[in-house]
Amino acid sequence: MNIHEYQAKEVLKSYGVRIQEGIVADSPEAAQEAAEKLNAQTGTSWYVIKAQIHAGGRGKGKVQETGSNGVVLAKKLEEVAEKAKNILGGTLVTHQTGPEGKKVNKVLIAEDVYYPGDSEPKEYYVSILLDRATGSNVIMASTEGGMDIEEVAEKHPEKIIKEWIDPKAGLQGFQVRKVAFKLGLSGNAFKEMTKFITALYKAYEATDSSQFEINPVLKTSDDKILAVDAKVNLDDNALYRHKDLAELRDLAEEDPLEVEAGKSGLNYVKLDGNVGCMVNGAGLAMATMDMIKLSGGEPANFLDVGGGANATTVEAGFRIILQDPNVKAILINVFGGIVRCDRIANGVVEAYKSIGDIRVPIIVRLQGTNAEEGAKIIDESGLKVFSAITLKEAAEKVQGVLKG
Ligand code: GDP
Ligand code: MN
Repeated sequence: MNIHEYQAKEVLKSYGVRIQEGIVADSPEAAQEAAEKLNAQTGTSWYVIKAQIHAGGRGKGKVQETGSNGVVLAKKLEEVAEKAKNILGGTLVTHQTGPEGKKVNKVLIAEDVYYPGDSEPKEYYVSILLDRATGSNVIMASTEGGMDIEEVAEKHPEKIIKEWIDPKAGLQGFQVRKVAFKLGLSGNAFKEMTKFITALYKAYEATDSSQFEINPVLKTSDDKILAVDAKVNLDDNALYRHKDLAELRDLAEEDPLEVEAGKSGLNYVKLDGNVGCMVNGAGLAMATMDMIKLSGGEPANFLDVGGGANATTVEAGFRIILQDPNVKAILINVFGGIVRCDRIANGVVEAYKSIGDIRVPIIVRLQGTNAEEGAKIIDESGLKVFSAITLKEAAEKVQGVLKG
């Protein structure tokens, strides 16, 4: 699960990570008030207004309606409300949002930490993530902060420092010092960086996160080290033991169809193709998507209806798939292991009749227990549903109906 920058910074701060202070706001008036409060708290007289969306690249991104960037500086208190207004409610397009962009509902009003006149601020990159290849966490750091890290990794891989942490021994002091040293730091800044990384790692472990990315980490001219940005990815499977973090979920940032599917206990991920898929089991769903691609199609979604598929789950699945206007055909691929194929077939027919106006052809491939009975029910239903026994046959039928 992703959370917003302002939420991530609060979490980090509670573990002793120094951050660029800020106050979140959802209207120009609230933005103005936030700036006044911030001025009283930190003494800052310059403010940074930052769009809060679940995507990066906001600084270079543009709000479609106004042309404002997603991160802007206000050098006067009086400018804050106006600049916030140019971001709030707008659609921010960044290289991470896709061309459709994301609606901005909140802005973070932050203190300017690149002090006016400061000629020496230096941006670094620090992230922590799970390295599945080694089965351990890895700290990555770079002197090339503020830039697109994928680009650095491609052009200057030697500029990315990596330190793997033994899960049994935990993070060791010498490892943190090694990273700070390789970043070229010394004196107070070196000490501050080791404190920063140590606290960051503590937060990462305590929150059961799967990724932290702090870009940029800033070193001010008076050697403070702080998080200017914060991307925090929490492990969904651990949220049950972090009720407070689970509450940070922002449904407005998620695909509405995925949210609806979650409510019906379906595992749905929206994709860009035109073949809707409904499958029982995640592995089979992946194989089905591969098969669709191999026959020249593009899957519109991933949908795992789970082991106990029945008429109700099939109907919920249908309704979700059909809400996607790109869907031109649906492929149902169910293996009747726990559940019998004739029951699924009946479920499909029932769901079809219950929904009524299904505008696209449906190809049903049922395999396993009572497969023939299932196919018979589909074929004799009199509906625009076609049966198939092998997956290859099913995928080819899909292409057939798409070509008309
Ligand atoms: P992102 O573009 O979504 O990654 O958002 P960031 O939080 O990383 O901010 C983008 C850029 O805004 C940073 O790389 C900085 O260059 C700039 N920025 C952020 N905070 C400040 C600040 O306090 N003062 C100034 N002058 N620039 C800032
Ligand atoms: Mn950033």
